[in-house]
Amino acid sequence: MSRGVLVVVSGFSGAGKGTIMKSLMAKYDNYALSVSATTRNPRPGEEDGREYFFRTREEFEEMIRQDQLIEYAQYVENYYGTPKAYVEEQLSQGRDVILEIEIQGARKIKKKFPEAVLVFVTAPSMEVLRERLVGRGTETAEVIHQRLARAAQEAEGVDEYDYVLVNDQLDEAVDRLHGIIQSEHFSMKRN
Ligand code: 5GP
Repeated sequence: MSRGVLVVVSGFSGAGKGTIMKSLMAKYDNYALSVSATTRNPRPGEEDGREYFFRTREEFEEMIRQDQLIEYAQYVENYYGTPKAYVEEQLSQGRDVILEIEIQGARKIKKKFPEAVLVFVTAPSMEVLRERLVGRGTETAEVIHQRLARAAQEAEGVDEYDYVLVNDQLDEAVDRLHGIIQSEHFSMKRN
């Protein structure tokens, strides 16, 4: 059986990555979505082990020491990292694994796994991004400000990605992402 494709999806906070991921998983069944560990607090409705493994700073640092993470990064004062075991297991079982991570993590993955495909998701405009972040109502004004500043910074790294996906129309964005991943199965990079 051939190894699954490792897919990194990054994008501005508020670009709708989470929604795209949920629809992709609901519509197609060969994808495994990696659940990251984080030190940030759960948002309303988020559950430990589903959206994230919510950990204390001490617990997270212990995972780093034990070499249990493929990559980790700091994002607006919190740690986020990808647990190693699940990703390795799913890829070797031929499943395509999706990591929804920010740009520092994406760079680390590309170094370790040059065959990984990197997709950057954006909203149609910065204004739409701001509206979505404010509308979500889960972050304080200060954190929204920090996240928008971070978005502007990340925009500079967008050319390190293999694909850019504009999330203007959800269903279309999901199908385009599926198409990108499927075509990677035939990529020369994998051999
Ligand atoms: P949020 O707090 O909005 O859930 O996530 C903040 C940022 O952290 C997002 O850009 C998200 O993609 C990123 N992120 C989530 N999990 C990981 C991870 O395991 N590693 C890295 N490097 N970034 C992550």
